[in-house]
Amino acid sequence: MSELRDLYQEVILDHYRHPRHHGRVEDASNEADGFNPLCGDRIHMTIRLDGEKVEEIAFEGAGCAISTASASLLTEALVGKSKQEAKELFERFHRLVTTEDATSDDEAELGKLAVFAGVREYPVRVKCATLAWHTLKAALDKDQDSVTTE
Ligand code: ZN
Repeated sequence: MSELRDLYQEVILDHYRHPRHHGRVEDASNEADGFNPLCGDRIHMTIRLDGEKVEEIAFEGAGCAISTASASLLTEALVGKSKQEAKELFERFHRLVTTEDATSDDEAELGKLAVFAGVREYPVRVKCATLAWHTLKAALDKDQDSVTTE
């Protein structure tokens, strides 16, 4: 188990140090701001939809390792997904980090995102891990108010 944990940490640190899809999408069709006051994490997410499909997605901002890695892994997972698939993935992710009820199906669908299962034990960290997802949802719903985890 500790080997698995090390592997998880490695994935998180890698995405923190080298965030994927970092920056802004040109000609974004959707965007939103997210803020986690408990930790001070800030995210600005931009998305370009092609119909119902996420064509491009990027994020910028400043945050802790968990929030940055979560945003990075999210953007990587979301390219090519439909809005509906994105929301389903959000539900699976939320179940994984907040409950013991995540199924093996959830974990399979989440792929690398399953590395965040460990944050479940640290409620403060759950806010860091889910910030990007709440921001994503606000962007897809075109909910203009900026998102806060509080
Ligand atoms: Zn944080």
